[in-house]
Amino acid sequence: MIPVIALIGRPNVGKSTLFNQLTRSRDALVADVAGLTRDRQYGIGKVGDFPYLVVDTGGLSGEGAQMDRAMAEQTERAVAEADHVLFLVDARDGLTPQDQAIADQLRGAGVKARVVVNKTDGLDADSVSAEFYALGLGQVTSIAAAHGRGVQGLMQAVRKDVAAARRAASEDAGDDEAASDGLDEASQQAALDDWPGIRVAIVGRPNVGKSTLVNRILGDERVVATEVAGTTRDSIFVPFERDGQEYTLIDTAGVRRRGRVHEVIEKFSVIKTLQAIESAHVVVLVVDAHAGLSDQDSHLLGMVIEAGRSLVLAVNKWDGLDDHARERIRDELDRRLGFVDFARMRLISALHGTNVGHLLDDVCEAHASAFRKISTPELTRLLEAAVAEHAPPMISGRRIKLRYAHQGGQNPPVIVIHGNQTDALAGSYKRYLENFFRKQLKLVGTPLRLEFRSGR
Ligand code: GDP
Ligand code: GDP
Repeated sequence: MIPVIALIGRPNVGKSTLFNQLTRSRDALVADVAGLTRDRQYGIGKVGDFPYLVVDTGGLSGEGAQMDRAMAEQTERAVAEADHVLFLVDARDGLTPQDQAIADQLRGAGVKARVVVNKTDGLDADSVSAEFYALGLGQVTSIAAAHGRGVQGLMQAVRKDVAAARRAASEDAGDDEAASDGLDEASQQAALDDWPGIRVAIVGRPNVGKSTLVNRILGDERVVATEVAGTTRDSIFVPFERDGQEYTLIDTAGVRRRGRVHEVIEKFSVIKTLQAIESAHVVVLVVDAHAGLSDQDSHLLGMVIEAGRSLVLAVNKWDGLDDHARERIRDELDRRLGFVDFARMRLISALHGTNVGHLLDDVCEAHASAFRKISTPELTRLLEAAVAEHAPPMISGRRIKLRYAHQGGQNPPVIVIHGNQTDALAGSYKRYLENFFRKQLKLVGTPLRLEFRSGR
């Protein structure tokens, strides 16, 4: 899965500045964590062809012993969750006792971390970096995060370290020296594509019923599942087949089958959830009908949408509710989830198995929509029909012309519309077109992106 890089260090050394640099590259999936976790930021970024997930463990507060404890916890979590730790220090402050304490902890944990000396702008990088070798963590890299200086080089070094660690881990498996380090985008994608069928991630906050749902799906006797081990940090990938359709289930909750515990059930992990979303074709977001929608649910939803993944909403625990309660919940969901009206909402009971089969049908439908191939003549014909029904507005006496459309990508589908003055198209007209295409093409469960090109 996509490697995880954690940023640690005392306050004000420049962690969030570096985080911003590292997540700027892609239309960054930066989860606003309020409501998810108290004090951390998560983002997806890419340097060259190397995609990664970055965690800023910042936001520490307190003084004296309280601060020391907060930093110790921060470091511990980073070490547990990340493939690679970047330990930031401040060139202007020089080496401080707090830096020393963090370094001691890292050495104690036996973790390879890279010391990154920040704020070297206007300074002689070599001489200000020298004293940080005393931390005893090996190589020291100097950057100026605020100016983006040294950041590319830093990430190249990180990539080499992650590749070496992964090679060491797989050496026992007798893998040959590979031509590529396996960390480029194409290799990460190819590794995922080794899993058969539709990759479905089951995500949701704790106690909504994810494990119950996973057990229900895999326990179905019509399902043939292959068990696959995972480490506690990873999600588990479980291939299975149902009605002749292959799937790989990405389980963030931990599979418990036939009474055996395959995985320690651990606390909700945002990293695991983000990795699962990144790895999936279709995300099933499970919410709890009894508890209603929380901010955490909305944040998870935001992550799925920003990642451009297909989505099915599973409203679980639908059993044991009276008609009145059901109506109230349905109203609440319609009101609050209006903005994801492209997704199917399936009312299920994981406990009793009600509608779980239909949920998988919804997953198939979303996947098929996301990968639909649509010809240029068909798209152009639909564009003409849309314009005939409702013409674009006049701009200073001239009508905006939309000439033809072609497909620019799949998963999610991208429709590229060519015309004149498309820059002047109002948002409302773009939404009209999107809805028109969505309806005519019967695209359900997948985001749809429109792009506009103005010819001369
Ligand atoms: P954090 O608390 O570790 O997340 O630190 P911040 O990213 O909030 O940065 C703390 C301060 O250091 C801010 O005022 C930044 O503008 C400043 N800063 C960050 N990177 C650099 C840098 O490369 N050079 C200089 N001169 N200042 C920086
Ligand atoms: P997870 O943390 O999301 O994996 O949630 P679990 O699968 O562990 O379920 C949390 C609790 O909700 C357990 O006590 C389940 O028995 C219960 N639960 C799960 N699904 C349902 C359901 O469909 N109906 C009812 N009434 N309870 C359920």
